[in-house]
Amino acid sequence: MRITIFGSGYVGLVTGACLADVGHEVLCVDVDERKVARLNAGEVPIYEPGLENLISKNMAAGRIRFTTDAAEAVKYGLLQFIAVGTPSDEDGSADLKYVLKVAETIGAHMNDYKIIVDKSTVPVGTASKVERTVAAELEKRGLDLEFDVCSNPEFLKEGAAIEDFSRGSRIIVGTDSERVKKAMLECYGPYNRQRDKMMFMGVRSAELTKYAANAMLATKISFINEIANLAERLGADVEEVRHGIGSDPRIGYSFIYPGCGYGGSCFPKDVKALAHTAEEIGHPAEMIKAVERVNARQKNKLFEKLCQAFDGQLAGKTIALWGLAFKPNTDDMREAPSRALMEALWEAGARVQAFDPEATEECRRLYGERDDLVLADRRDDALEGAHALVICTEWKAFRTIDFPQLRETLAEPVVVDGRNLYSPDTVKAAGLAYYGIGRGDSV
Ligand code: NAD
Repeated sequence: MRITIFGSGYVGLVTGACLADVGHEVLCVDVDERKVARLNAGEVPIYEPGLENLISKNMAAGRIRFTTDAAEAVKYGLLQFIAVGTPSDEDGSADLKYVLKVAETIGAHMNDYKIIVDKSTVPVGTASKVERTVAAELEKRGLDLEFDVCSNPEFLKEGAAIEDFSRGSRIIVGTDSERVKKAMLECYGPYNRQRDKMMFMGVRSAELTKYAANAMLATKISFINEIANLAERLGADVEEVRHGIGSDPRIGYSFIYPGCGYGGSCFPKDVKALAHTAEEIGHPAEMIKAVERVNARQKNKLFEKLCQAFDGQLAGKTIALWGLAFKPNTDDMREAPSRALMEALWEAGARVQAFDPEATEECRRLYGERDDLVLADRRDDALEGAHALVICTEWKAFRTIDFPQLRETLAEPVVVDGRNLYSPDTVKAAGLAYYGIGRGDSV
């Protein structure tokens, strides 16, 4: 099949590469000229395990190309995927300007039947807006062409995106058109062989499913963080509580890890957008709003713990920070807890020495050169002369530490473990003070 994909970000590139890999012919289009030039030069502008290989293999086979030429892209595919960003607007709603711009472009250039597949995360009712936008463009051109719009939300996780796309739990398509169903079955057929995971439903249900899924996951995180905060004050260890509740199959172990709050490009904006949708229809969603409030508070936890460790005297201190990305296996720092911490530390007059296996360049791009930020090339270089070590991201490379050696290196014996990676007893046995998340009187 010939497939066009608007947007060469995380979702667009992974979708394009995976669909090309099963034999489709894919044309990816992006408005960012530099990004397209880099892709054409064989460079992948984001870090995602396996993506570079998959793209270069399929480029060599002539199954995936990159362009900025929107007119050519619209003419190319029967399927026109929209995979552009839907950032938060000032009021928390999803900003649809990029999605509707693509709809306009498709309407301005299409000359035959097209199926517009919305893969961006968009509020309920967006498919109708896309439909109206395309129809208005066609009307301007005096054309009456047939087209369909369907919703195909994406559930991949950054860091495991190819695996998720290829072996995900479900492929959701919101449509009531038999013609669209047939085309989407053909498109995803190779990924639907082992078991039938295609779920066809109404377009509004498909749009809401994506928000419900992300809100549920964010709720699990805020829930366990709330329990962690109680555990801290009650002298309990949330890690023991986590084991205790996870063993109940109705609860399960997944996604109940306490930490320093969720970040990334999706949970924060999607939870806000769902809360906004609820307000708009006159149903203030109390639970969703609470999930967001708990998370905002949690992102301040590491700073509070450092204040506690240093009696609020952080000016002039140097803090070693391991982990900048919002989670392991990505270089993405959007809404990362590390950012909240660094910004609070700078405000308090402290310096940061940070290390991340992948996100150092992204951090430099975000904050530029500044006197109170050193980006270390190696994990242990970030410790030199530091007064405390803080863990923000649970990269595998941080799991094993020589604690007696760490005690020797740090100017003050303080470890703030924002991901509960270490055993408090082991850290304390090395003469270090341990501050975890929800671990009772662990200091
Ligand atoms: P991204 O910011 O990484 O990429 C978006 C790309 O779209 C950019 O390269 C941008 O230049 C391009 N673009 C903007 N306007 C365009 C236009 N008119 N024509 C062509 N290209 C255009 O975004 P992303 O992380 O890939 O997310 C895309 C959508 O998928 C969002 O709605 C997001 O919520 C959703 N989503 C993201 C993830 C994720 O993990 N990143 C997972 C599931 C769903």
